Amino acid sequence: MQGQIMDYPLTTNTILEYGNRVFHHKRIISHLPDGSRHEYTFGEMYARTKQLANALKHTLGVVEGDTVGTFAWNHGPHVELYYGISGIGAICHPINIRLSIQQIEYIINHAEDKVIFVDATLVRMLEPIAARLETVRHWVLLNAPEGFTTSLQNAHRYEDLLEAEPDEIDWPALDENQACGMCYTSGTTGLPKGVLYSHRSTYLHAMTILSPNAGNVSNRDVVLLVVPQFHVMAWGYPYLCVLAGADMVLPSSNLQPAALIKMMQAEGVNKANGVPTIWLGIYQEMKKDPPAEPLALEEYVVGGSALPKSLIKAFQEDFGIQGIHAWGMTETSPLGTLSRLQPQHDRLADAERLRIRAKQGIAFPGVELRIVSDEGTPLPWDGQTMGELQIRGAWVIDSYFKTGNRESFTGDGWFRTGDVSTIDADGYMEIKDRTKDLIKSGGEWISSVALESTLMAHPKVKEAAVIAIPDERWIERPLATVVLQDSSDLVTNTDLKEFLARDFAKYQVPDDYVYLKEIPKTSVGKFDKKELRRLYAEGELG
Ligand code: ADP
Repeated sequence: MQGQIMDYPLTTNTILEYGNRVFHHKRIISHLPDGSRHEYTFGEMYARTKQLANALKHTLGVVEGDTVGTFAWNHGPHVELYYGISGIGAICHPINIRLSIQQIEYIINHAEDKVIFVDATLVRMLEPIAARLETVRHWVLLNAPEGFTTSLQNAHRYEDLLEAEPDEIDWPALDENQACGMCYTSGTTGLPKGVLYSHRSTYLHAMTILSPNAGNVSNRDVVLLVVPQFHVMAWGYPYLCVLAGADMVLPSSNLQPAALIKMMQAEGVNKANGVPTIWLGIYQEMKKDPPAEPLALEEYVVGGSALPKSLIKAFQEDFGIQGIHAWGMTETSPLGTLSRLQPQHDRLADAERLRIRAKQGIAFPGVELRIVSDEGTPLPWDGQTMGELQIRGAWVIDSYFKTGNRESFTGDGWFRTGDVSTIDADGYMEIKDRTKDLIKSGGEWISSVALESTLMAHPKVKEAAVIAIPDERWIERPLATVVLQDSSDLVTNTDLKEFLARDFAKYQVPDDYVYLKEIPKTSVGKFDKKELRRLYAEGELG
């Protein structure tokens, strides 16, 4: 028997309408690329979003099912684009501005973007490839001063487009399973692949991530969105802040640690998100130049790569700020797990509590995890046994856009993450490595992530990335690349080996160390191990 409940589609329009009705006074504060500050309310954002929706239909000829690209930092107009584009049944496709220009060209052509909204400060990046973009019919310039010129054909100023339109619209009736957004993976493992989010998946992800066991965002919060809107929809925060009625602070290109600290102080930010490199930078800046008044910041959700234990501890001890570790992928909308302590952990020793917080955490309701052996057999949740992490759930990809790739999916309906992890009896998942980064030495697995996390806890080490290198006797051995806090610091290989030997078996401790000025990073700020392996293979790692 069917339930007798209304079929009420979970769409981004319902998020927008709710935010306007209930939280119209809540604020969106943008610190724009030119250094200026702009503040307006959800109510004003709502009216402009409807003007935008009209402009998309009338002037830009966008119809249901079209993809519309954005090439922009985090700011109010970019939030309007999230809602305006999906509101008329089109698909909002934020393009990662940090990819190589070849990848950007590939992505725009592959996604078949009809219109691209681009920040004036980023226009020069796209002008040289514009002629090769096969489907783009119009360009719209965001935050462009009057008189701004570009060689892009059919370019409009965003503000002019909006001004010409009424702020009333009848939203079309949309199916909740229709696509509303699209992001490409960052292509660390080949060509970027497109992931199409549905209205329903976006809604459910946002509702879940704002809840207390997860991101814990409410109408009492002022949230800084450091994660770029072009990186997996800023982890869903532009949706969940509207649902929760939280003020949003959007930093655009002002991402230097000192600028972010000043912004948090000025706006009274108490929650934030971001990748570990951002929070490491903020911590170091706060140590160097302690803020006169303590920040209102209570906690920051951090993911994308492993959050070192040492950073969680240092932030908490020095500033009373909690790092909340989360895990996810472009393919999982992105958030899949998050680590918070529970009452049963209260009586544990500090070191044990820190160990739990440094894990990637428990799955959110709505997604399920399992770990499997090479043969595909599910493995025990004992916190020891490592296996490939697989996930399924209400906001997990079931196929890539326009490709027949099925390698990433199992026959019984799970997505293969390519991560290797353990899960303990309480469901806390811990990433040990990516499949392709694991080091197998003399038949034993060595976790590069665990070595990196410990190395980064050494007081003189700023960053550490560990890769496998070929070895005649052991097949593979770990090689540690290290960046020191201060390049004049004297650290010997023996110091680092002794430091690691406290936590690792002898065979796991790297014999080789290379000291670098900087570790190459991917477009989303992760250690670029592919590049490190290439440098090693070409004899450029010393
Ligand atoms: P890409 O797959 O192109 O690098 P994603 O942003 O989708 O881009 O990256 C997802 C991957 O990032 C995960 O599969 C995992 O390897 C890594 N990752 C994400 N969060 C964490 C975390 N908290 N700890 C360790 N690794 C993480």
